[in-house]
Amino acid sequence: MKPIFEKPSLYSFSLPALKENLKAAGFKPFVADQLFSWIYVKFEVDMENWTNIPKKLKEYINESFDTSLPKIIWEGLSKDGTRKFLVGFRDGKTVETVMIPAKNNRKTICVSSQVGCAIGCTFCHTGTMGLSRHLEAGEIIGQFLAISKFIKKAEGEEARLSNLVYMGQGEPLHNFENVKSATEILLEPKGLGLSQRKVTLSTSGLVPQIEKLTEFPPINWAISLHAAHNEIRSELMPINKAYDLDRLLSAIKKIPLKAHRHITYEYLLIDQYNDRKEDIDALVDLLPKKVSKVNLIPFNEYPESSFKRPSVSRITWFKNQLEDNGITCTIRTQKGDDILAACGQLKSEMEKKLNLWES
Ligand code: SAH
Ligand code: SF4
Repeated sequence: MKPIFEKPSLYSFSLPALKENLKAAGFKPFVADQLFSWIYVKFEVDMENWTNIPKKLKEYINESFDTSLPKIIWEGLSKDGTRKFLVGFRDGKTVETVMIPAKNNRKTICVSSQVGCAIGCTFCHTGTMGLSRHLEAGEIIGQFLAISKFIKKAEGEEARLSNLVYMGQGEPLHNFENVKSATEILLEPKGLGLSQRKVTLSTSGLVPQIEKLTEFPPINWAISLHAAHNEIRSELMPINKAYDLDRLLSAIKKIPLKAHRHITYEYLLIDQYNDRKEDIDALVDLLPKKVSKVNLIPFNEYPESSFKRPSVSRITWFKNQLEDNGITCTIRTQKGDDILAACGQLKSEMEKKLNLWES
């Protein structure tokens, strides 16, 4: 856990880490189980309501940890049920968090892992902001808790988040230790208890960190590929100049995969740019067939970008061509486009309005 504030968030601690901390302070380690049950099973973060927790422990928690949740500064509900949130932290920095409903009452939360992003992809609104700071693990978990509480109030007590994707602002592997701690907390059976199969981390391709993924719990991995030629990928993603497709693909091949799991390759489709026949041929050559799945993401247009989204028929043609060549392929449907779409767009628009972004 990398400290960001002097007083760490209580929600940055995994169960074993909290046990260790409490033990060192002279408390019985099992009280950590009780705290996890209040916070992550009952979603009760108000200490006043922790009936079985002794006063002395509450005092220690008060002195040693920050227990505040991020604030929901703005919330928008789309016609398709997607909710977008602008979430503010204790230093006033903000990120966006999205909740996407799916079939069978499943709900996915898309969390941010950093304020801004250092990778600077040319198609990405967040990329234009630069990196402001990493989020601490408790701020990632804080997004989960704050949105859980919000939807329980708005949609009923039984409403719960079942899936999580690290696809909001930021490059999760650039904030490796904190994202790892947050993932351990998400999966903790005595707490939130999310299944490994329901957590997905998307990365732009930081090769040294991909090589360390053996240290991570075995969740789902998504790689933002976006191009199968080095020239195009370097134009879209400056990270490709440091770690090109060869290095990226050989690092990915070493990620240990459990049976029946695959790597998802995200491929942004930009009109007349990376949606040509030669891009399909290059993709087919590049990807290991049996363990790869391609998720096509039609580009979300925004005023400051000259990139355009291909037509529906072009997108379908691209998908069919890949499938004819034995590559499993899905198209990411656009969610919540009536409430500001592209990654980072909500944050910028809201901050312009609320005048929050100090730089
Ligand atoms: N930094 C990580 C994870 C967060 S980005 C990564 O890049 O993988 C989340 C996703 O949003 C990425 O797949 C990215 O390609 C996509 N994205 C960013 N800008 C977009 C846009 N304008 N239209 C569609 N998808 C976009
Ligand atoms: Fe960062 Fe991902 Fe946006 Fe690239 S696409 S700038 S890695 S958030």
